[in-house]
Amino acid sequence: MRQTILLLILFLTLSSWKADTSGPWIITKGEKIVLYSRPLGYSKAESPDSIAIQTIIQEQKYVIDYINKRLNTNLDSKVKIYLYNQDEAKEKIGTNSGGFASLNKFKRHIYFTFHSKPYLNTVLNKYDYMGVHEMVHIITINQLGNLRTRFFGEGYSNAIDGNYGCENVNGILTRRRNDSTLIKIRENGKLLKPSDLLYNDSVPESLFYPQIGCLINWMFEKYGVDKINLLYDLKRDKIEAEFKKVTGVSFAYMENEYMEYLKTK
Ligand SMILES: [Zn+2]
Repeated sequence: MRQTILLLILFLTLSSWKADTSGPWIITKGEKIVLYSRPLGYSKAESPDSIAIQTIIQEQKYVIDYINKRLNTNLDSKVKIYLYNQDEAKEKIGTNSGGFASLNKFKRHIYFTFHSKPYLNTVLNKYDYMGVHEMVHIITINQLGNLRTRFFGEGYSNAIDGNYGCENVNGILTRRRNDSTLIKIRENGKLLKPSDLLYNDSVPESLFYPQIGCLINWMFEKYGVDKINLLYDLKRDKIEAEFKKVTGVSFAYMENEYMEYLKTK
């Protein structure tokens, strides 16, 4: 039996939180990552030791390469990651179960909570401390343009990450896959159409993130990532018209095809 404990990972990307970055920090430089972490004994919660620090730097380097490959982008400048201990994160970055990325193109910063145990990510087939979501924001904002809509802004992050939230599967903390969550959402009669995802701002994150992730992934496969990249930084009221220009089919036609495709899942 699969035990489902919902440990909500809140990725507060669109939040206006200003992180408190005051030290002390241990600063460790990798090829693509500069990691700021707390010294051992900084607080009651665990600080990352040197093995965790190196593992996270390697993980996030891998994540940058993985995203660049998926999106045909080439971010190669360093990304700064501030990693907060679990018991201080809520106060300093507004959440203690995830984090957020700076939306400022020139400030390639991620603020994130350190969990002493990594999660099993079945999309990448490895354990991860931070995952892919926030780094997608950094890369898209730097390479594709400003984040103007939740549709593409969060859509890209959820598509490439492929997970939202976390559950306990036979004692193993496991990221929840968007594709399996979507099937549960359908069973509950909460399936949303692409136009709902584009225009309805009141869809809660737990329904929006998995569904937009699946849709944008399907668009990448259907139309090619280079075409969808051209739509990334459009304002919402321009998306339908540009979609037609770029893909050759109307948004409504795509919607129909996508809903038919979901029936086969
Ligand atoms: Zn996000």
